[in-house]
Amino acid sequence: MAKVVGGTKLPLRKTWNTVFSFTVGLLTTFKHIFRPNVTISYPEEKWVPYPRFRGLHQLRRYADGLEMCIGCSLCEAACPSDCIYVEPAENTDEDRRSPGERYAKVYDINMLRCIFCGYCVEACPTTAIVMTGNYELADYDRKDFIYHKDRLLVDKPEDNAPLSPLEAV
Ligand code: SF4
Ligand code: SF4
Repeated sequence: MAKVVGGTKLPLRKTWNTVFSFTVGLLTTFKHIFRPNVTISYPEEKWVPYPRFRGLHQLRRYADGLEMCIGCSLCEAACPSDCIYVEPAENTDEDRRSPGERYAKVYDINMLRCIFCGYCVEACPTTAIVMTGNYELADYDRKDFIYHKDRLLVDKPEDNAPLSPLEAV
Protein backbone atom coordinates (compact mmCIF):
# COMPACT_ATOMS: atom_id res chain seq x y z
CA MET A 1 0.00 0.00 0.00
CA ALA A 2 1.34 3.55 -0.97
CA LYS A 3 2.70 5.70 1.87
CA VAL A 4 0.53 8.76 2.62
CA VAL A 5 2.49 12.08 3.09
CA GLY A 6 0.57 15.18 4.22
CA GLY A 7 -2.66 13.72 2.92
CA THR A 8 -1.26 13.09 -0.67
CA LYS A 9 -0.15 9.74 -1.94
CA LEU A 10 3.64 9.93 -2.68
CA PRO A 11 3.59 8.27 -6.17
CA LEU A 12 0.89 10.71 -7.35
CA ARG A 13 2.91 13.75 -6.22
CA LYS A 14 6.05 12.40 -7.87
CA THR A 15 4.21 11.84 -11.14
CA TRP A 16 2.80 15.37 -11.05
CA ASN A 17 6.26 16.89 -10.36
CA THR A 18 7.76 14.95 -13.27
CA VAL A 19 5.03 16.01 -15.70
CA PHE A 20 5.31 19.64 -14.53
CA SER A 21 9.11 19.75 -14.93
CA PHE A 22 8.90 18.07 -18.32
CA THR A 23 6.29 20.58 -19.54
CA VAL A 24 8.30 23.57 -18.30
CA GLY A 25 11.41 22.18 -20.08
CA LEU A 26 9.50 21.70 -23.34
CA LEU A 27 8.03 25.20 -23.15
CA THR A 28 11.52 26.66 -22.67
CA THR A 29 12.77 24.70 -25.68
CA PHE A 30 9.89 25.84 -27.89
CA LYS A 31 10.38 29.45 -26.78
CA HIS A 32 13.97 29.38 -28.10
CA ILE A 33 13.15 27.63 -31.38
CA PHE A 34 11.70 30.83 -32.82
CA ARG A 35 14.44 33.15 -31.56
CA PRO A 36 17.42 34.11 -33.79
CA ASN A 37 20.62 32.09 -33.29
CA VAL A 38 23.20 33.55 -30.95
CA THR A 39 25.94 31.18 -32.08
CA ILE A 40 27.68 30.86 -35.46
CA SER A 41 29.40 27.95 -37.21
CA TYR A 42 32.93 29.26 -36.80
CA PRO A 43 35.30 29.08 -38.70
CA GLU A 44 33.05 28.58 -41.76
CA GLU A 45 31.09 31.62 -40.64
CA LYS A 46 33.08 34.59 -39.35
CA TRP A 47 32.01 36.86 -36.55
CA VAL A 48 31.94 40.52 -37.60
CA PRO A 49 33.49 42.59 -34.82
CA TYR A 50 31.90 45.76 -33.52
CA PRO A 51 33.43 49.04 -34.79
CA ARG A 52 35.22 49.72 -31.48
CA PHE A 53 36.39 46.12 -30.98
CA ARG A 54 40.01 45.89 -29.83
CA GLY A 55 41.86 43.09 -31.62
CA LEU A 56 45.37 42.62 -32.94
CA HIS A 57 47.53 45.74 -33.12
CA GLN A 58 48.76 47.31 -36.31
CA LEU A 59 51.53 49.82 -36.98
CA ARG A 60 50.50 52.37 -39.61
CA ARG A 61 52.27 54.26 -42.37
CA TYR A 62 51.87 57.79 -43.68
CA ALA A 63 50.57 58.33 -47.22
CA ASP A 64 54.16 58.60 -48.53
CA GLY A 65 54.98 55.18 -47.05
CA LEU A 66 57.03 56.43 -44.06
CA GLU A 67 56.36 54.67 -40.77
CA MET A 68 54.26 56.64 -38.31
CA CYS A 69 56.09 55.16 -35.32
CA ILE A 70 58.92 57.36 -34.09
CA GLY A 71 60.22 54.88 -31.52
CA CYS A 72 59.36 57.09 -28.54
CA SER A 73 58.38 54.11 -26.33
CA LEU A 74 55.40 55.91 -24.79
CA CYS A 75 53.22 52.88 -25.62
CA GLU A 76 55.74 50.66 -23.84
CA ALA A 77 55.57 52.89 -20.75
CA ALA A 78 51.76 52.98 -20.79
CA CYS A 79 51.29 49.23 -21.13
CA PRO A 80 50.04 47.79 -17.81
CA SER A 81 51.00 44.26 -18.85
CA ASP A 82 54.55 45.16 -19.78
CA CYS A 83 54.18 43.35 -23.06
CA ILE A 84 55.58 45.91 -25.53
CA TYR A 85 59.28 46.18 -26.31
CA VAL A 86 60.56 49.08 -28.44
CA GLU A 87 64.15 49.60 -29.49
CA PRO A 88 64.63 52.90 -31.35
CA ALA A 89 67.28 53.78 -33.91
CA GLU A 90 68.29 57.05 -35.58
CA ASN A 91 67.01 57.92 -39.04
CA THR A 92 69.65 59.00 -41.50
CA ASP A 93 69.38 60.80 -44.85
CA GLU A 94 70.38 57.56 -46.56
CA ASP A 95 67.97 55.38 -44.58
CA ARG A 96 64.90 57.28 -43.46
CA ARG A 97 62.09 55.12 -42.05
CA SER A 98 59.97 57.73 -40.25
CA PRO A 99 59.60 61.53 -40.36
CA GLY A 100 61.04 61.93 -36.86
CA GLU A 101 64.61 61.71 -35.62
CA ARG A 102 64.12 58.08 -34.70
CA TYR A 103 62.13 55.06 -35.73
CA ALA A 104 61.39 51.74 -34.07
CA LYS A 105 64.15 49.36 -35.08
CA VAL A 106 62.54 46.68 -32.93
CA TYR A 107 58.86 46.65 -32.05
CA ASP A 108 57.55 43.54 -30.31
CA ILE A 109 54.25 42.77 -28.60
CA ASN A 110 53.79 39.66 -26.49
CA MET A 111 50.19 38.79 -27.26
CA LEU A 112 50.14 36.19 -24.49
CA ARG A 113 50.32 39.02 -21.97
CA CYS A 114 48.21 41.62 -23.75
CA ILE A 115 44.88 42.37 -22.09
CA PHE A 116 43.62 44.44 -25.04
CA CYS A 117 43.12 47.51 -22.88
CA GLY A 118 44.10 49.96 -25.64
CA TYR A 119 46.33 52.10 -23.40
CA CYS A 120 49.15 51.82 -25.95
CA VAL A 121 46.87 53.32 -28.61
CA GLU A 122 45.87 56.18 -26.33
CA ALA A 123 49.49 56.92 -25.39
CA CYS A 124 50.83 57.11 -28.95
CA PRO A 125 51.53 60.74 -29.97
CA THR A 126 51.50 59.96 -33.71
CA THR A 127 48.54 57.53 -33.89
CA ALA A 128 51.04 55.01 -35.23
CA ILE A 129 49.53 52.10 -33.37
CA VAL A 130 45.91 51.04 -33.73
CA MET A 131 43.92 47.98 -32.78
CA THR A 132 42.21 46.14 -35.60
CA GLY A 133 39.19 43.84 -35.74
CA ASN A 134 41.44 40.80 -36.14
CA TYR A 135 40.56 38.35 -33.36
CA GLU A 136 41.93 35.19 -35.00
CA LEU A 137 45.06 34.95 -32.89
CA ALA A 138 45.10 31.23 -32.08
CA ASP A 139 48.43 29.53 -32.70
CA TYR A 140 50.29 26.33 -31.84
CA ASP A 141 53.58 27.58 -30.48
CA ARG A 142 54.07 30.08 -27.65
CA LYS A 143 56.90 31.83 -29.48
CA ASP A 144 54.51 32.64 -32.34
CA PHE A 145 52.55 34.87 -29.97
CA ILE A 146 55.46 37.31 -29.90
CA TYR A 147 54.49 39.62 -32.72
CA HIS A 148 57.55 41.30 -34.23
CA LYS A 149 57.50 44.47 -36.29
CA ASP A 150 57.29 42.58 -39.59
CA ARG A 151 53.91 41.18 -38.56
CA LEU A 152 52.62 44.42 -37.04
CA LEU A 153 53.64 47.00 -39.65
CA VAL A 154 51.28 47.39 -42.63
CA ASP A 155 52.85 46.80 -46.05
CA LYS A 156 51.23 49.80 -47.66
CA PRO A 157 49.55 52.93 -46.30
CA GLU A 158 45.77 52.75 -46.06
CA ASP A 159 43.72 54.75 -48.63
CA ASN A 160 42.99 57.64 -46.28
CA ALA A 161 46.41 57.65 -44.61
CA PRO A 162 47.50 61.09 -43.34
CA LEU A 163 50.29 63.08 -44.97
CA SER A 164 53.60 62.76 -43.17
CA PRO A 165 54.96 65.91 -41.49
CA LEU A 166 57.69 65.97 -44.16
CA GLU A 167 55.08 66.07 -46.94
CA ALA A 168 52.85 68.54 -45.15
CA VAL A 169 55.54 71.31 -44.95
S1 SF4 B 1 46.39 46.72 -25.43
FE1 SF4 B 1 47.03 47.17 -23.30
S2 SF4 B 1 48.04 45.31 -22.64
FE2 SF4 B 1 47.90 45.17 -24.87
S3 SF4 B 1 49.83 45.98 -25.63
FE3 SF4 B 1 48.39 47.71 -25.55
S4 SF4 B 1 48.70 48.65 -23.53
FE4 SF4 B 1 49.63 46.61 -23.47
S1 SF4 C 1 53.77 53.19 -31.47
FE1 SF4 C 1 53.52 55.34 -30.90
S2 SF4 C 1 53.94 55.43 -28.70
FE2 SF4 C 1 54.75 53.48 -29.45
S3 SF4 C 1 56.90 53.89 -29.91
FE3 SF4 C 1 55.74 54.18 -31.81
S4 SF4 C 1 55.27 56.38 -31.84
FE4 SF4 C 1 55.85 55.89 -29.73
